[in-house]
Amino acid sequence: MADDCIFCKIRDGDIPSEILHRDDHCFAIRDIGPAAPTHLLVIPVEHFTFLRDMTPEFHPTLGAMFAAARDLAAAEGIDESGHRLVINQGNHAGQAVDHLHLHVLGGRPMGPVA
Ligand code: AMP
Ligand code: ZN
Repeated sequence: MADDCIFCKIRDGDIPSEILHRDDHCFAIRDIGPAAPTHLLVIPVEHFTFLRDMTPEFHPTLGAMFAAARDLAAAEGIDESGHRLVINQGNHAGQAVDHLHLHVLGGRPMGPVA
């Protein structure tokens, strides 16, 4: 837990947010500044900044995050039309929130990744 982490605060209910999914490993919310008609964030319960911080004991969390993303994409109706999963890591990727998160983007055609 990082004291000033917005996603930890959402996880703990200190900042109200609609939780679309929650399991032992992760939870999901809508991005506050959507970059696509559907833009969700799948967030590990544990505060990690980088994938490299996720030691093998937390690898099941990665599986749970991708399973949640898959199920949420279906629930949002962006499964068959297609969607994009993104994890920004560090400065060059423009990571703005230092609590690891998986973006789920869909609802419009998207261009090249970068
Ligand atoms: P990243 O650049 O990968 O770190 O993405 C951070 C994302 O978090 C951005 O897309 C923001 O719009 C989003 N975000 C920041 N604060 C909130 C919040 N309180 N609730 C939902 N999404 C947020
Ligand atoms: Zn956090």
